[in-house]
Amino acid sequence: METAEKSGIENPARVRFAPSPTGLLHVGNVRTALFNWLIARRSKGTFILRIEDTDAERSKPEYEKQLKRDLEWLGLDWNEGIDRGGDYGPYRQSDRYDIYQEHARWLLEQDKAFRCFCTEEELERVRRRQLQNNETPRYSGKCRQLSKAEVQARLDRGIPYTLRLRVRPGTVGFSDLVFGRIEIETAQISDPVLMRSDHSPTYNFCCVIDDFLMKITHVIRGDGHLSNTHRQILIYEALGAPVPQFAHLSTILGPDGQKLSKRHGATSVEEFRRQGYLAEALANYLSLLGWSPPTEGQEVMSLQEITGQFDLSRVQKSPAIFDTAKLNWMNRTYINKTPGSSLVKDEGADRYFIDAGLIPSQPDEQVRNWLARVIDLLKSHVDHLDQLPAESGIVFGFEGAPEIDPEVRDMLRDPEAGAVAREFARLVEEKESITAEDYRRIVAEVKTATKQKGRNLFHPIRGVLTGRGSGPDLESLIAVYEEGSRLNLPRKVMSCHERLRAILNA
Ligand code: GLU
Repeated sequence: METAEKSGIENPARVRFAPSPTGLLHVGNVRTALFNWLIARRSKGTFILRIEDTDAERSKPEYEKQLKRDLEWLGLDWNEGIDRGGDYGPYRQSDRYDIYQEHARWLLEQDKAFRCFCTEEELERVRRRQLQNNETPRYSGKCRQLSKAEVQARLDRGIPYTLRLRVRPGTVGFSDLVFGRIEIETAQISDPVLMRSDHSPTYNFCCVIDDFLMKITHVIRGDGHLSNTHRQILIYEALGAPVPQFAHLSTILGPDGQKLSKRHGATSVEEFRRQGYLAEALANYLSLLGWSPPTEGQEVMSLQEITGQFDLSRVQKSPAIFDTAKLNWMNRTYINKTPGSSLVKDEGADRYFIDAGLIPSQPDEQVRNWLARVIDLLKSHVDHLDQLPAESGIVFGFEGAPEIDPEVRDMLRDPEAGAVAREFARLVEEKESITAEDYRRIVAEVKTATKQKGRNLFHPIRGVLTGRGSGPDLESLIAVYEEGSRLNLPRKVMSCHERLRAILNA
């Protein structure tokens, strides 16, 4: 049976991801998006994408485009919001200014908001004095009690004003689904500004109006917004709007306990994508930042499996640590589960080889199929796909002098190992090119002729073919050499014959 209660969500949830398009989507934000998405899917609800672009100077269309691409890449599809429409649009805040104005006017008419004519300088002066007296800086309430006539007189003189919420006395609190009950005296809060003196709405105001009108049931966001929540609840109250549930997600820290930043390496989804992290691996890893599945030890899970188990009651409030080593392990696990053909076709792994000048910039089907087999041989050695070309020396190497491990050189000087290598090379020379079947037959013949077996047989063969003491399965490697040598590649792949000659003559 579906146990919706266990997820902390009884009914289909309406949740939103509300990014500000002022930069690349980073790990913390995308984890917020993911948790919202999981709650929407778990509760068979709605995941809404809303763009909070009220900071006109810093908001850029290209960031909006990029964040949509990131969400799509990760599989976090939204069913309502920008580009999808819905009953509660528009979904971009800059298209909603009339709505904010209208609600501001209503709050003013109801006397739930008031005009504040204090200048910036005046507010700053008060603030400094309060700080000097070791008081928490807060709005003095100076303009709260202005009479109608006093207000009118200031309006007539054209004095600019902000619109502030008239905060009620008493306490205000909420039970955060992650952080628990948080209650404060409203006396600690300044009357929040709803509209600035240039008539632009503030974040707290837009956010509440939108969450209210979009019928958001659960606000799931970073804990940086915990301190905004009391103010926002007071705005809901003033509007006579139902207050949604809140779940704040703890900050993500680097392994050194500092706030995650560039110093810790990649932090944006785009960077991870470019480095060849797989979307499923990144999503899986992010799901474990602050959440743990009920089945202990179970970590590698598809989004679908995570959806089936996700539950806000298992989200911790202690900071989550972003551990690149663990993400790399996760990514390697996914890379190894994914066939090379899909790494090329679906993950675009070929672009790393194109960039490295190893394959043509427009590889045809044959090259891509061959590359898929190359990748299958190498993939267990990499944490992310951009490391593949550097691992591919065993296939592409040998421009000019062959690269031979000193250990292999020494081995081939040994009379017995040398005999195995030469006999192998002689039998290969008899054929134009060798297939897997030829290879098996030749190995059997070498075995009979030299009376060597096991490591003493295979080590010299590997050495004389690859120049290395270890590496991928030889039979597959031989096929890759033979086929690669017939392709027209910018960096020549040597056939088995060429390799044997090069190494024996080195
Ligand atoms: N635009 C806000 C942010 O990116 C969203 C805050 C919220 O979810 O309420 O932090």
